Amino acid sequence: MEPLSVKVHSRDNVAIIANPEGLPAGTAFRDGLTLAEHIPQSHKVTLKDFDAGEPVIRYGQVIGYLNRRLPAGWWVREEMLDLPAPPPLDELPIATAVPDPLPPLEGCTFEGYRNPDGSAGTKNILGITTTVQCVAPTVDYAVRRIQNEILPRFPNVDDVVAITHTYGCGVAIDAPGAAVPIRTLRHISRHANFSGVPLIVSLGCEKLQPERLFPDQRLLSASLPSLPVLEDAPYVIRLQDTELRGFGSIVAAIMRYAEKRLEELDRRRRAICPASDLVVGMQCGGSDAFSGVTCNPAVGYAADLLVRAGATVLFSEVTEVRDAVHLLTPRAINEQVGRDLIREMKWYDEYLARGGADRAANTTPGNKRGGLANIVEKALGSVAKAGSSALMAVAGHGEKVIAKGLVFAATPASDFICGTQQLASMNLHVFTTGEGSPYGLALAPVVKVSSRTALAERWYDLIDIDAGRIATGQATIEDVGWEIFRFLMDVASGRKKTWADHWRLRHPDLGGSFL
Ligand code: CA
Repeated sequence: MEPLSVKVHSRDNVAIIANPEGLPAGTAFRDGLTLAEHIPQSHKVTLKDFDAGEPVIRYGQVIGYLNRRLPAGWWVREEMLDLPAPPPLDELPIATAVPDPLPPLEGCTFEGYRNPDGSAGTKNILGITTTVQCVAPTVDYAVRRIQNEILPRFPNVDDVVAITHTYGCGVAIDAPGAAVPIRTLRHISRHANFSGVPLIVSLGCEKLQPERLFPDQRLLSASLPSLPVLEDAPYVIRLQDTELRGFGSIVAAIMRYAEKRLEELDRRRRAICPASDLVVGMQCGGSDAFSGVTCNPAVGYAADLLVRAGATVLFSEVTEVRDAVHLLTPRAINEQVGRDLIREMKWYDEYLARGGADRAANTTPGNKRGGLANIVEKALGSVAKAGSSALMAVAGHGEKVIAKGLVFAATPASDFICGTQQLASMNLHVFTTGEGSPYGLALAPVVKVSSRTALAERWYDLIDIDAGRIATGQATIEDVGWEIFRFLMDVASGRKKTWADHWRLRHPDLGGSFL
């Protein structure tokens, strides 16, 4: 096989090796470069002679400074790179290079479930919300029985999912930051794939009372003597109500109300919905040095297509945006959006400072094995998922996104926490991976895109789309971007199933990752 290397930007003075087995010492490239040592796939090779202290440039940006001399053709190992200072937050250009609106993609639709609140679901799921940890094991017990004994009678309903968590009791409910899990739980409970209406299970004595969780909504008590006609208002079952005698009676109450909701959900049918009803969350996990040249740019291309179709696209992961924020603030649609983005980065800087930690803690051993030397290199590849359109809005952790177009939704980078917080708004998820992760969520379909063909072949029944073909020249970023876009429309319409849904890979305790 011909030696292959990938250089992303004309200014780059390193490239990454693309051949799956890496390349041996003595390999000669067409441009005259000869490797001085074996370099594994996805790791960096020097394209020139470096003096100590010289910047190493990838994606046209400085990813570090070489702390030793290194001639051309050598492997740039992580310990040879000193981390540059992060972009200074008080000196960032804001709204200085706002991209022109992309040409609209007219008439893009999918077949979704129209909800009473105007949103549209990509799935039809009964959601059971819990207000406090104490009810979680009981609700889990009831859900197992509902899935086995009741759900099979309602073939148009995809699933029954309990939103359980470790929150809701008296501990520090007004503490700084407590608003984040509460609003995340509120928005997830009204998820578009739950038809916007939850069934609520409360204990009775908890601080996070149902009325506190949903202050603006009428709630129906399940203690009413007879079951009234179901409306859009959610039902609340309180386990401490005196009508409920014994565990069997408690479980029966949950199952009875679940059955009523399932009857209602089962009558729904998919209908044509505009693509503007889609809120697509982008995320990466287990990234490698290919992520930034294959799957993330392809997902970025798909993000642009979604924006052109009128959808909302979320990108997140504060820890991975921080070192690329100088590339994003110029794209902010206005001064306020730029400032909002900087606010989220400042929060992170202050959080690190409070704990005496530093941002070098992100990257993982897997990232490094995959050729990502540090967080700067990881960040530059990560933000490629955001495509090229203007940044229209910024949402805080767990906030509901209203805006259309490209939106930064602040979340940690940790996969399930990011996904959980994105679920406050998203009804479709794209997850890119280089090292591989069998990630999945219960509430929204997760489309997994691999950075390398070797991973897509090894995990043939976990990876939905192989973007590794971009590195070997078998496909372009545009080809794979369109493939992702079309697959997303099929998945949103229920015409195709992701591997994560095929295997029912889902976090068993969505709320466990709120804090
Ligand atoms: Ca992640």
